[in-house]
Amino acid sequence: MSIRNKNNEVISYIKKEYLKSENDWHLGFSGGKDSSASLKLIYSAVKELDYYHKKIYVLFCDTGVENPIISQYVYDLFDKLQKENDAENLPFTFKILKPKLNDRFFVKVIGRGYPTPTNIFRWCTKKLRVDPINNFIQSEKSSFVILGVRLNESQQRDRTINKYKLEEKFLLKQNNSVNRIIFSPILYHDLEEVWMTINSLKYPISLNAIEIRKIYKDAESDCTSIRLKNQACGSSRFGCWTCTVVRKDKSIANLISNGYDQLEEMHEFRNWIAEFRDNINYRCKYRRNGQKSLGPITLEGRKVILEKLLKIQYESNFNLIDKEEIDLIYELWEKDKKSSNYREY
Ligand code: SF4
Repeated sequence: MSIRNKNNEVISYIKKEYLKSENDWHLGFSGGKDSSASLKLIYSAVKELDYYHKKIYVLFCDTGVENPIISQYVYDLFDKLQKENDAENLPFTFKILKPKLNDRFFVKVIGRGYPTPTNIFRWCTKKLRVDPINNFIQSEKSSFVILGVRLNESQQRDRTINKYKLEEKFLLKQNNSVNRIIFSPILYHDLEEVWMTINSLKYPISLNAIEIRKIYKDAESDCTSIRLKNQACGSSRFGCWTCTVVRKDKSIANLISNGYDQLEEMHEFRNWIAEFRDNINYRCKYRRNGQKSLGPITLEGRKVILEKLLKIQYESNFNLIDKEEIDLIYELWEKDKKSSNYREY
């Protein structure tokens, strides 16, 4: 089937599905090609409708440690998309969500002394990426979520998708969720068709194929939309700039070699902190439960990390940590100093 016919089939399906129920829709957006193609399809379909009886929320989760090139791109893009939507009275709301203050990356690492995440101790994904979206959707009582998930990317992914596929063509049932249905408009698109969709669909005009391609080209790697083993975060194209789950952050390294020099110090910091985690001189000899074992990063160690982070924040001109996070970090340090459950030696 030609891509034109394939997309027309999806667009007809979206129009029918939109009119079917009252519940608002939520589209998870990462800035990557899969969620961009999904948005193009949804937007094109909705533009063809005569009336809009429910909202469509497009959600981007800003973890606070997003690759700044990507988050800047998405913030600017959402601004343009919202204006485009409002000018046409369409039902889209473009929304940026953030994790709770207590759950932020640096509050956990520098405030509480969590070692940076690994595949074995991966405390971050749920708190930073999953919960903010889930909390928002639950508060909206929606049961219909749109994600750019695709078949035929790998056998492992196909197995996961097939496990949750429903009888209806583009629908999946969400893991652990009784009521939530996932709709992927690009479930049967291959990589080339995803790019063809982004290139060929005109709306929304603000979602510019050339810009997306440039970011991909500069990062020189392909992306995926479901988490695979040993990958950082599937739903986010570039993941967190601080991610220590991956052994090397190739996309940041590639961006630097393509002229994004301002990321260099952040990249060095990420590599440094991955080693610092294992420096036992800066780790408590006791856990918080009193067990004699490798515990949190010591107060001295956390101070070292904060100082280094503030230095690169100053030098890079990026906002790498919010003031409210720093305030909470100092509060948590004071608590540890007074707590009988906290023991360094
Ligand atoms: S990108 Fe890495 S640090 Fe960020 S949430 Fe995912 S696994 Fe954790």
